[in-house]
Amino acid sequence: MPFKDECGVFGISNQQEAAKQAYLGLYALQHRGQEATGICARENGHLRLHKAQGYVADVFSESVLESLPGDTAIGHTRYSTHGGSLSSAAQPFLVHGRFGQLALCHNGNLLNTESFRNRLLINGHTFASPSDSEVIIALINTAKADTLESAVEEVLQQIRGAFSLLILSEKQLIAARDPHGLRPLAMAKLDDDSIVFASESCAFDLLGADYTREVEAGEMIVLGPDGLQSRFPTKKRGAKPCVFEHVYFARPDSLVFSRNVMATRREMGRHLALQHPVDADIVVPVPDSGVHAALGYAEQSGIRFEFGMIRNHYVGRTFIEPKQSIRSFGVKVKLNPVRDLLKGKRVVLIDDSIVRGTTSKKIVGMVRGVGAAEVHMRISSPPTTHSCFYGIDTPTREHLIASHKSKDEIRDFIGADSLDFLSMEGLQKAMGDMAGQGFCYACFNGDYPVPVEQTNFAC
Ligand code: AMP
Repeated sequence: MPFKDECGVFGISNQQEAAKQAYLGLYALQHRGQEATGICARENGHLRLHKAQGYVADVFSESVLESLPGDTAIGHTRYSTHGGSLSSAAQPFLVHGRFGQLALCHNGNLLNTESFRNRLLINGHTFASPSDSEVIIALINTAKADTLESAVEEVLQQIRGAFSLLILSEKQLIAARDPHGLRPLAMAKLDDDSIVFASESCAFDLLGADYTREVEAGEMIVLGPDGLQSRFPTKKRGAKPCVFEHVYFARPDSLVFSRNVMATRREMGRHLALQHPVDADIVVPVPDSGVHAALGYAEQSGIRFEFGMIRNHYVGRTFIEPKQSIRSFGVKVKLNPVRDLLKGKRVVLIDDSIVRGTTSKKIVGMVRGVGAAEVHMRISSPPTTHSCFYGIDTPTREHLIASHKSKDEIRDFIGADSLDFLSMEGLQKAMGDMAGQGFCYACFNGDYPVPVEQTNFAC
């Protein structure tokens, strides 16, 4: 099974204590990756890097941040689910190459690096990890072009797939987004002359930076001694940003693809209520992923919203289970149903998506277990029928319950009294995408904007 990673990237120029600002930005992007993190900072043309496995707050102490002086920095949070933890895959990557020191971090998955990697290996190149991001750096260093900007342009014309990239050199900070703009990357201004880049705008808010715009699909922005230059090295192919960022992945307070995530989720909930009403007593979200859609559902339907399940926010990645195993322990330790609210009630349970179906089954079981009279599951996106190859972690197709079970079979599997999903049309309306052409919906309809032949390990 290939690696599929979700990640967060952050960059800042022209700002005192850039590494500390990057630390704050990454802190806000922690939800995009909890496996590893790193910052590379530049002082007078010299780059220094610190990266390790763990949370941002654990990896960076005051003294570590002081060892990263300078006024420009890039950083990364990395998430990986398959293949275990690989410390060698933490980003940014830093190398000494043809263009001097060069650091790179990447969010997304590339689809055509295998042949490049093999060619580079035959030519004696070595890699520290299986990451595609390292292949990008190697391609830059072996490009025909003789300036860094042109070499990056050359490579952007060769690689295919999803990428939001930040590259730090001795003189430049370069940001680039793939021709379809599959993964997010936004820009902000801090003070008079500092430019900030981040996967999501929640990172700007913590710094007090003002959101200016998205890095456009296919755009490459160079911040260097000559100021800011914007270029489009590849042919325009039509933006297809990832709808799943809005459905599940991004933070609700973020602007992603110039849209507020919370507002979109609420719209999804409203359309869900219009399409699939239920006679019920309370609307209950699966926290946190279902909260805003549930608010929209409650507003539209007039049914009372209740936090009928409480999430423990302090659950780490692993926990010790007693020898005598407890049923559904993994879910129970995170979510607890509120018996007094749910007992005897007809409940509409709202979540953003059903992937394997196993969590939903356990949650429905827990709500019934405390005495709910009826449990009606409503999902604020269409059935997830296809895997993502562009950087959202989804299991292979055979593990996606909706790829091989009908709606009624899924309802029976999760044990709900009824089950319904938001339609594609409803999702497109909630996204303000009336023509249905403005986003990548591949996980729901199999319509992949970049042909998928193979996938590699990337971020
Ligand atoms: P499942 O039991 O596999 O159907 O899990 C469904 C739950 O996983 C829902 O609560 C979603 O919010 C959540 N979810 C959806 N996509 C992802 C993802 N890519 N990574 C982690 N959790 C996800």
